[in-house]
Amino acid sequence: MKHKKIIYPGSFDPITNGHLDLIKRAKEIFDEVIVAVAKREEKRPLFSWEERIKLAKEAIEELNLKNVKVYAYDSLLIDFCKKMGVFAILRGLRAVSDFDYEFQMALTNRKLLPEIETIFFVPSPEYIFLSASLVKEIAKYGGCLKKFVPLCVEKALKAKFSLCGE
Ligand code: ADP
Repeated sequence: MKHKKIIYPGSFDPITNGHLDLIKRAKEIFDEVIVAVAKREEKRPLFSWEERIKLAKEAIEELNLKNVKVYAYDSLLIDFCKKMGVFAILRGLRAVSDFDYEFQMALTNRKLLPEIETIFFVPSPEYIFLSASLVKEIAKYGGCLKKFVPLCVEKALKAKFSLCGE
């Protein structure tokens, strides 16, 4: 069988248990999962590109996920897909609210590179309402993060907000 590599791109600001739920599902189906952390500075992320990459790597190590690799990219996604030789893009669908944007992106990527497919995964129900923004909001007000992020991210969020004097 051909070696099936899939790419999971995103901002991962920071990586959450919802992202990790998708990664764990993907690693059972595909030979290799590439978690691709986009620079996306225009989105004014809380964590720098380097921090987001580091946290994604630590989270994957924490869970001992063997066929998952973290890469960084700052280009058009399809150019990075070509470079990495992946056959499909993985994205997550939580609620209807994700649909418009994801649909638009999938069709645009197909126009740019027709041979690439976009595959959508749905997370476990407990992660349907989980987003990186929500996690940052909880962290900002000192809420309990254990159910939402891996330990390394919990520590990084606490450090980030206490450094900000909040
Ligand atoms: P982007 O800025 O590219 O949307 P994100 O890191 O916010 O990057 O999300 C990357 C992908 O992961 C998106 O397809 C998003 O829908 C999906 N995703 C985010 N959180 C969850 C979650 N809790 N469950 C399933 N998919 C998720």
